[in-house]
Amino acid sequence: MHILLVEDDPLVASGIVTGLRLHGLTIDHVGTARLADAALATSYFDVCVLDLGLPDEDGMVLLRHWREEGRDLPVLVLTARDAPCHRVEGLLGGADDYLVKPFDLDELQARLHVLMRRVAGRATDYIEHGALRFCASTGQVWLAGEPVMLARRELALLRALMQNPQAILSTEQLCDCVYGYEQNVESNALNVHIHHLRRKLGTPIIETVRGLGYRLGAAEKVVGT
Ligand code: CA
Repeated sequence: MHILLVEDDPLVASGIVTGLRLHGLTIDHVGTARLADAALATSYFDVCVLDLGLPDEDGMVLLRHWREEGRDLPVLVLTARDAPCHRVEGLLGGADDYLVKPFDLDELQARLHVLMRRVAGRATDYIEHGALRFCASTGQVWLAGEPVMLARRELALLRALMQNPQAILSTEQLCDCVYGYEQNVESNALNVHIHHLRRKLGTPIIETVRGLGYRLGAAEKVVGT
């Protein structure tokens, strides 16, 4: 899950970034509305965590602007404005969820997973794909009932593919999901993770779509492991 965090308070931001990275999520942080616009224009995100009190523009104005432009990115609003009228204004203004500061990091994480689940139209946290079973909130993976240990980057890659099972994802999109948009990634780094995932989950698990990118392929029990 690639998250864009828009938050101008460096302490709050670093707490969220550190906490969510520990849970294996990929998160990029910007501190202003203008930088948020720039990030969305150049990178692929699954969800946005948006603070309302930003230095250059009110978060609600920014969100309304995104919705008018047709951006349907799920947005969780994070704010100190806790009056019911503010919550209602937030939800009607295009927010998908609303969390009042101070908040619990586990709750933020849980709400982000619920949001992604809702967007994907799933009723549970588990995504099944052939012999593969994936728990979106804990990141646990089973193949033919056997647990499989994946490294953080492998998990981010598998998560991106399983959350978009029909889609062809470009190398750029997958790099965004695995590394975040600010990091300089060696061009063959993604290939290394693809290779490891294929070794652990069977070669067909990631289909190469020539010239376009990659797609989730068949998940079968790996013979000989
Ligand atoms: Ca703020």
